[in-house]
Amino acid sequence: MPRAGLRTLDDLGDVAGRRVLVRVDFNVPFDADGTVSDDTRIRLAIATLEALRERGARLLIVSHLGRPEGRDPQWSLRPVAAHLSALLDEDVVLAASLDEVPEGDLVMLENIRFEAGETKNDGALAARLGALADAYVNDAFGSAHRAHASTEGVVHHVQRSVAGLLFEREVQTLGRLLDEPERPLVAVLGGAKAGDKIGVINRFLEIADIVLLGGGMSYPFFAVSGKRIGRSLCDEAGLQAAREVLEREATRERLRLPVDLVIADDFSADANLRVSHPIDIDDEWEAIDIGPLTRADFAAVIRDAGTVFWNGPVGAFEIEPFAEGTHAIARAVAETSAVTVVGGGDSGAALTRFGLQDEVTHLSTGGGAALELIEGQVLPGVAALTGR
Ligand code: AMP
Repeated sequence: MPRAGLRTLDDLGDVAGRRVLVRVDFNVPFDADGTVSDDTRIRLAIATLEALRERGARLLIVSHLGRPEGRDPQWSLRPVAAHLSALLDEDVVLAASLDEVPEGDLVMLENIRFEAGETKNDGALAARLGALADAYVNDAFGSAHRAHASTEGVVHHVQRSVAGLLFEREVQTLGRLLDEPERPLVAVLGGAKAGDKIGVINRFLEIADIVLLGGGMSYPFFAVSGKRIGRSLCDEAGLQAAREVLEREATRERLRLPVDLVIADDFSADANLRVSHPIDIDDEWEAIDIGPLTRADFAAVIRDAGTVFWNGPVGAFEIEPFAEGTHAIARAVAETSAVTVVGGGDSGAALTRFGLQDEVTHLSTGGGAALELIEGQVLPGVAALTGR
């Protein structure tokens, strides 16, 4: 696994007066009035930007935003440049295109996905990006699973290329979790579909001591065990994943499923609720959360863990009455003395909603990239920055 040899800012050498291309992940959400509604990703990149400024580098910041079809002003980085200006208390100049990159210490390129070659990892675009700078720093771990011109191709067109501080922290934290976790290692996996996360489930069934499975992804496990699950979430890929896991005895022993579920007669906040225990759900009902016994059971396992990895809500937590299970998990993860790594996305959103985002060891910004790393895949963006 190409983690150990990740090149970092320590390997960058002298960049005083040099132009450094910094790939960041400023793919942020917006309010209806067009202002940045959550600037977490911007704030997380500041440490790297400031470290480079302190070394006297001139920065050319590159990010993608959304999935624009061509040069669509709706996906302009202009409000992001303005937001960064405010955070740094300095002017950030937005370069409208690669043909018009002004001189200056703090320049941001317009949305790199306005360039047709970006997502195709086009060599000509990568070379143009490389020609704009003396060195390349990638701090966009969340895009490291994609071989795009600004995340992979460009590395072949600059003399020096290294990971930024956030990127380094993501790779090191996830690497330690996989290779040398404080034991017992407990994985808490939730989310809607088992089929989507089978690679992650399988990896943790190999390396973790206990895998707690909740949320929509657990329902196919009941279905293949012959239990009635009513209208609960369940699809063919999930059933296939559940069969695959349950066939292996060794992994079956590490797997812990809910013992009770909160069920609803409607997917809405004013639904009638019941607890199903033992699990046996009538046709008109559906599971929407883990039950009280499971909450207590999972929380106890988390409390006694050495390391906890959590990805995915254990219920439809966006709807208030269905959030108790996910809240209990979030609280247990916040309170345990274990090393805690939360895999971003919905679980990160849940932590933030409960105000517990600062109570974990590491809240990953990685999303899909983190999950692919856990599955054991080689991430193109990581591989490109590995080795001397
Ligand atoms: P994923 O994208 O697979 O991580 O799934 C995240 C989504 O799963 C969140 O929006 C949760 O609300 C949802 N989820 C988890 N459990 C359930 C459930 N029982 N019913 C409906 N949605 C669920």
